Amino acid sequence: MKREPESLQEAVTYFADPDNCINYLAVRRWPDGVVICPTCSSNSVSAFNTSRRTWMCSTHHPKREFSIKVGTIFAESPISLDKWLMAMWMLTNCKNGVSSCEIAKDVKVTQKTAWFMMHRIRLAMQDEAFGKLSGEVEVDETFIGGKARNMHLDKRERRITGTGGKDKTIVFGALERGGKARTMVIGDRKRGTLQTCVKEHVEAGSALYSDALASYDGLAQDYAHQVIDHAEKYVDGKIHTNGMDNFWSLLKRGISGTYVSVEPFHLFRYLDEQVYRYNNRATKDNPLTDADRFDMAVRQIVGKRVTFAELTGKPN
Ligand SMILES: [Zn+2]
Repeated sequence: MKREPESLQEAVTYFADPDNCINYLAVRRWPDGVVICPTCSSNSVSAFNTSRRTWMCSTHHPKREFSIKVGTIFAESPISLDKWLMAMWMLTNCKNGVSSCEIAKDVKVTQKTAWFMMHRIRLAMQDEAFGKLSGEVEVDETFIGGKARNMHLDKRERRITGTGGKDKTIVFGALERGGKARTMVIGDRKRGTLQTCVKEHVEAGSALYSDALASYDGLAQDYAHQVIDHAEKYVDGKIHTNGMDNFWSLLKRGISGTYVSVEPFHLFRYLDEQVYRYNNRATKDNPLTDADRFDMAVRQIVGKRVTFAELTGKPN
């Protein structure tokens, strides 16, 4: 098959050929066709060696022979590209997320390997757009997880709920209606913290909607801020946070259904994953496909790396 894949089934067939994997990645990494040495950035690089499947930099330095994996999230991994790309297809496209057990089974790696692969893939799913949200923007916070120790003792506690609690992680979210979402893990819900988040992510002058939490008081100086008091009602015309509510329920469904327990330390990685799928969902104006979501993540694989030791705090 020469045409690029459009479905999971086509991806399995297409990426079974290692040269298809390399071609798919190379045309995205080097769109103008000029291969750049990932070590010294020289463009004086030999033609692709079809038997070794590598390139050779003409400058003499260590690691002058390199594969497509070098300098990407796949670097120094013995896992073959077909497995990497299948895992990536699944993670970028499964609406509620996919567990490391499922990846392990479908891609034929151990669960530990799948877990590590997924964390690396999430690096390619980080939002690289740093512009602020504008127009009509909803802001809200939620609580996730907590009681990690108890969760192992009592399966009933494994559900991740969201109405407060000392040992839960707080997440701030902002959502542009008809547009993108942002999330941040925050330490508290004090005024300084939340208002800094709002100012960092929302363009001054935007219409801002929040609930009646006192920490949002005072934002009317910079925003057309309107408050919905949930003690009274949930919607008052345009004044509501229903978009954020939907986003949180999608997030929690993903986390509680798929990732039995998420340690607070790793939560931001799961947020990256969920936000990526949400922000790249198909809409009427922007009918993105599975192939598009996969393609866009592939374009973000370069220059990112996380080691097993960094993820677990212990050596491999
Ligand atoms: Zn070089």
